[in-house]
Amino acid sequence: MPSNELLRVEHLKKYFPIKTGLLKHKYVQAVEDVNLFINRGETLGLVGESGCGKTTLGRAILRLHEPTAGKIIYDGVDITHEKMLPYRRKMQIIFQDPSASLDPRMTVGEIVGEAIDIHRLADNKSDRTKRVQQLLIQVGLNSEHSNRYPHEFSGGQQQRIGIARALAVEPEFIVCDEPVSALDVSIQSQIVNMLEDMQSEMGLTYLFIAHDLSVVKHISNRIGVMYLGNMVELGKSNEVYRHALHPYTQTLLSAVPIPDPRVSRDRKRIVLQGDIPSPMNPPSGCRFHTRCPYAIPRCTEEVPEWRELAPEHYAACHIL
Ligand code: SF4
Repeated sequence: MPSNELLRVEHLKKYFPIKTGLLKHKYVQAVEDVNLFINRGETLGLVGESGCGKTTLGRAILRLHEPTAGKIIYDGVDITHEKMLPYRRKMQIIFQDPSASLDPRMTVGEIVGEAIDIHRLADNKSDRTKRVQQLLIQVGLNSEHSNRYPHEFSGGQQQRIGIARALAVEPEFIVCDEPVSALDVSIQSQIVNMLEDMQSEMGLTYLFIAHDLSVVKHISNRIGVMYLGNMVELGKSNEVYRHALHPYTQTLLSAVPIPDPRVSRDRKRIVLQGDIPSPMNPPSGCRFHTRCPYAIPRCTEEVPEWRELAPEHYAACHIL
């Protein structure tokens, strides 16, 4: 394993059982056979429509959802069945909806300080108070905010509190689960810029989840694209933007707004037919075949193999 690799995921699956009748079970196949790796200090952007399994994948990596099958290797250790407390400190999450993820009965100081207490990171009460205040300043709030409650803050400020909470344990790896999608567009870039600054200051590694390719474009070194629980393409950010291989990635890219109206006018938008199928009953073969404009008979029968088609550029499609 190369020494700069921090996280590796191999053949990860996450199914959720659903009771459909007396003694009858069906499964939502939320994540199906996903492979990826993330190097230290880099950002892997993960995109796909809502319901494609990207949030479940992020949570399964942190073992907030126990994986159904597959392996999670963190810093060279297979943590799939390990006790997670020592890793909780190293691996953190920033949630999509800051207002729902902050306990309304706790002050900001209690929210940020809770993780410091769990992991015994402060020597005494005044050290703890100092750490909380430093964290609030670091995320662009001020130290007096520690006595206030979450509802007294705007959405952007609440997300800053969520980020301070994640940083409180000095993590190495953070799953940023759509951290800006609930925020006003004007605030989004401030939060993304702050996350980027923190990454370079602290050497953080991110899995950055978004439903929109334009959000991950600037922050990501590499991009993974998911469709209905499968990873369909993964490659360096520029490569995926300039030479998208998978038909689904091409569809997503065709919907990304282009600032130059002349280029935008010439570009053909690919509109997918039909709705995304249910992960309870996914299509056979390639899960994208019911909507793919290039599908051939083989696509309905055979699951396409995950292959490296160019250096560090992977995709799963029979016609590539
Ligand atoms: Fe389309 Fe077939 Fe490729 Fe799937 S395997 S993306 S259905 S061409």
